Amino acid sequence: MKTIGYAAYSPDSPLAPLTFERRALRPDDVAMEILYCGVCHSDLHTAHNDWGWSYYPIVPGHEIVGRVTATGSQVTRYQIGDHVAVGCMVDSCQECDQCHNGEEQLCREGHTGTYCGHDRHTGEPTQGGYAKHLVVREAFCLRVPDGLDLARTAPLLCAGITTYSPLRTWNVGPGSRVGVIGLGGLGHMAVKLAVGLGADVTVLSRSNGKEADALALGADRLLVSTDAGAMNKAANGFDLIVDTVPVKHSLDPYLPLLDVDGTLVIVGQVGPMAETNTVPLLLGRRRVAGSPIGGIRETQELLDFCAKKNILPDCEMIRMDQINDAFERMEKADVRYRFVIDMATLSDGQA
Ligand SMILES: [Zn+2]
Ligand SMILES: [Zn+2]
Repeated sequence: MKTIGYAAYSPDSPLAPLTFERRALRPDDVAMEILYCGVCHSDLHTAHNDWGWSYYPIVPGHEIVGRVTATGSQVTRYQIGDHVAVGCMVDSCQECDQCHNGEEQLCREGHTGTYCGHDRHTGEPTQGGYAKHLVVREAFCLRVPDGLDLARTAPLLCAGITTYSPLRTWNVGPGSRVGVIGLGGLGHMAVKLAVGLGADVTVLSRSNGKEADALALGADRLLVSTDAGAMNKAANGFDLIVDTVPVKHSLDPYLPLLDVDGTLVIVGQVGPMAETNTVPLLLGRRRVAGSPIGGIRETQELLDFCAKKNILPDCEMIRMDQINDAFERMEKADVRYRFVIDMATLSDGQA
């Protein structure tokens, strides 16, 4: 099936239209028309080959919401017209212990990325959601519950699950003391989701400039991380700190904030971190961890949870042809808090 999208053609060229093929339906495949796609930091890093594993041309996008247009002969859970979603992965081995546990993101053979991956049958490079159509294995297709705003659902598929999964892994609930570092696409979701789970939530920021925003998102307070007095007073006061900062930075200011056995979980920076002083780790039996997205079952749980609690990202809608401006603004953290592409603005005439 021919479709059109927007692709990066090299690490330093702007995204531009691309006509390409989606595979013919396999028996366990679902085909969809993409309605909305969120814009994630990973899209930008991949377009620029910041992680060194990009191929070109590459169509980014892994926060995908669409409508089913066709189903393979063995598909049982979806029908034409259903609203569905696809996140960061489109396949896994489905046989290892992690896949059996519903943790496909941790598949022993590696999951197949929605883009920047290779199809497990044909080896062809996968292409993401900045496009008109997508074909995906049923097992990696999620149901959008009735009542969720489709446009604002898109960022749940990466920013949402990336922050929800650690909150669930570390059993956040009423009484939990949760800190969130960084108030971007991931951070603002971490705040909303932790509040939704009943936690006491503190946003950590280098200045108090974002205090009103933090409180508006539902946080209980903002703690200024450059205020030594306030930081001293807050020591030992957190069970979990979700670190969403997407660049290299120091963990030293934050580790003393954790209570004994508390965990700082990194979900933003993928790559080197600044040198860390281990004294607070050892003395307080504190932990530093990482966490990638979440499994399919957990992602469906997130969508259902957000529908029930009416939790949605704050989004700025853009046209497909505004993507290069959006990338530039995202690099300057100039978005509240997630761009979402309205795919109706991508017409055949652009390819
Ligand atoms: Zn992402
Ligand atoms: Zn597996």
